[in-house]
Amino acid sequence: MSSLRFKAVEEASRRLPVEVPIPKELPSEYYGKYVFNKKQMAKYLSKETMNLLLEATDKGATLNRDIAEHVAAGMKMWAIEMGATHYTHWFQPLTEGTAEKHDSFIDYVGKPGEDIIESFSGKLLAQQEPDASSFPSGGIRNTFEARGYTAWDPSSPAFIIEDTLCIPTVFISYTGEALDYKTPLLKALSAVDKAAVEVCRLFDPNVNKVFSYLGWEQEYFLVDRALYDSRPDLNLTDRTLMGHTSAKNQQLEDHYFGAIPPRVAAFMRDIEYEAYKYGIPLKTRHNEVAPNQFELAPIFGETNLSVDENLLVMSLMERIALKHNFKVLMHEKPFAGVNGSGKHNNWSLGTDTGVGLFTPGKTANQNLQFVTFLANTLVAVYKHNALLKASIMSANNAHRLGANEAPPAIISVFLGSQISAVLDKIVESSDDDDITVDELKEMRLGISHIPQVLIDNTDRNRTSPFAFTGNRFEFRAVGSSANCSSAMGVLNAVVAAQLLEFKKEVDEKMQNGIKKETAIFDIIRQYLKESKPIRFDGNGYSDEWKEEAKQRGLDCETSVPLIFDNYVSEQTIAMYEKINVLSARELHARNEVKWDTYTKKIQIEARVLGDLSMNHIIPVATQYQSVLLDNLYKMRAVFDEEKAKKLSKEDATLIEEIAEHISAIKTNVDEMVEARKVANKIDIEREKAIAYHDTVEPFFEVIRYHVDKLELIIDNQMWPLPKYRELLFIS
Ligand code: ADP
Ligand code: MG
Repeated sequence: MSSLRFKAVEEASRRLPVEVPIPKELPSEYYGKYVFNKKQMAKYLSKETMNLLLEATDKGATLNRDIAEHVAAGMKMWAIEMGATHYTHWFQPLTEGTAEKHDSFIDYVGKPGEDIIESFSGKLLAQQEPDASSFPSGGIRNTFEARGYTAWDPSSPAFIIEDTLCIPTVFISYTGEALDYKTPLLKALSAVDKAAVEVCRLFDPNVNKVFSYLGWEQEYFLVDRALYDSRPDLNLTDRTLMGHTSAKNQQLEDHYFGAIPPRVAAFMRDIEYEAYKYGIPLKTRHNEVAPNQFELAPIFGETNLSVDENLLVMSLMERIALKHNFKVLMHEKPFAGVNGSGKHNNWSLGTDTGVGLFTPGKTANQNLQFVTFLANTLVAVYKHNALLKASIMSANNAHRLGANEAPPAIISVFLGSQISAVLDKIVESSDDDDITVDELKEMRLGISHIPQVLIDNTDRNRTSPFAFTGNRFEFRAVGSSANCSSAMGVLNAVVAAQLLEFKKEVDEKMQNGIKKETAIFDIIRQYLKESKPIRFDGNGYSDEWKEEAKQRGLDCETSVPLIFDNYVSEQTIAMYEKINVLSARELHARNEVKWDTYTKKIQIEARVLGDLSMNHIIPVATQYQSVLLDNLYKMRAVFDEEKAKKLSKEDATLIEEIAEHISAIKTNVDEMVEARKVANKIDIEREKAIAYHDTVEPFFEVIRYHVDKLELIIDNQMWPLPKYRELLFIS
């Protein structure tokens, strides 16, 4: 019965590391080799074309068709020299991951039937019509315009994967609605740039551009390919729907930062080698807390590029893992009882003059600017804490948040004692105080004698979903499988809207004759008071915090479909319309997709769980039960009744226990199927998702409970699925 499992375990345990030679060249020598970057542009484009292209990417100038034609010609030449034969528009639909449709470069020289040449035009570079009808659009393309198209994003460089030139693009409907993640992100980045530049100019008139930066940390699990293949739940849902905790899991805390297992080290080296060729500056690699859990992180970069790099790395990881006979799990909670995986998003803003807007400065003026951006971020996160939570929420991530190792499903901000003290002092200063800029310097007295570097890693609080870490905020609630665009799009949008508001308020005060610094201080003071409830430096895992957060009025909803409501609240729609990033229609359409995706995920999990329980677990349980029954009978044949009873007491108890678990599993699976049937009849996406959340999902834990109990009873030789100790400790 269990020969499949044993074969897989044996295969996995025998596996040796795949040999990955250490490259002879230094990373700097092959870095960016597969990317059409400035170095390649200089080689393949005329100086004029290159300058116009850079102007478009740096300053947002419009690119005309002529330029696109020249760029396409240069890009084609480079790609063909690199061995590419195909090209694709690479885009980020509202499903997970990226999408691509490959076309060959070939075309007839003249009439059909004549010779062919390799051809690629500016038109093909700029725009393409994928057969997009099967991408989710929340009904936008059904009701209005049946087509969607992809359009080139020149700010993210093209790259080559194997034989294909990949061109990063946005994906929009012909009526202009965003059908992807990239479009609203680009718009939010442009909004935060404009709004932040205006605010920066209150402090330094030389600022012309503000960049948003992102440094992500990608957590993931590795599982041997053979073991993965013998777990249908991993195969179809990327997580284990059953499995009793291993006797040893992470309690010894011996995995975190431990020596990297040789097979994994080879995989990591391979990933780094490949990533460098794509110009992705991977910097850190280490073991994570859970067994077989790991992390990699690059040096931060401009947000749009960094998001694309993350998506590219995720697909590289999947590809390279196969070569190493691993399956990489990006799911937020693949195993119960051990840590889940997140993707911390380190976020900051910085000017073209080289100033980090969340970096405490050396002069009083810089510090006033620092406090300004801090206060605006606090208010923005406070006002939109429910929306920020929606931006990171998914069926998968719901298992991780609040599960005792990850931030709870409540957004709060950790600032640390030093920054808190500075802000509290500002709040305490009375309105009559004529605070001079010099006094702000005084306010820093408590920390000014500490070298800058020490401010960096001050009291880190791992339980906070949104933590200030010295020169940036770390948004830790983002899930490991997520597209960072979702969280980064919302965060940059809410901050942009807030900065606009701030500038307006400052201007009004100054028009009324109030001195600039006083005006800024007044507003900051008010912001800090208003946003006080979002600040929390305590233990985010504790039950007291949940209670307190509720009292503070923070969003504590845990139902995923209801959390999505925040995307279409009046407040959210007003915010997005103010900065022109998403319309009410787009927000509603996108939510349809979110609810639908949620429903489908739960639906698939429910089916797999039902199938595994009925067709894998119960037959084995019954088989073992009859072995015990057989034994019982034989006892009675050999011994007198009294003695036989005594000797087979344990067997009798087990037989009963097995029967009870089997019956509970059957009943609950039946009821779950019924609940699904009822939910499936609902045709309003939101209601359907709520029904799946409220009436289908609750069965998962009950069914699993009984299956996991059976795992403890049934003969190990017979158990059909690789156990946690095998999945988590073989690598
Ligand atoms: P941690 O201690 O949180 O694990 P890491 O050094 O692993 O820190 O990762 C921190 C991430 O934050 C890296 O990607 C790093 O490049 C990035 N980072 C550092 N400074 C900034 C900044 N000012 N803005 C955005 N990201 C930053
Ligand atoms: Mg971190």
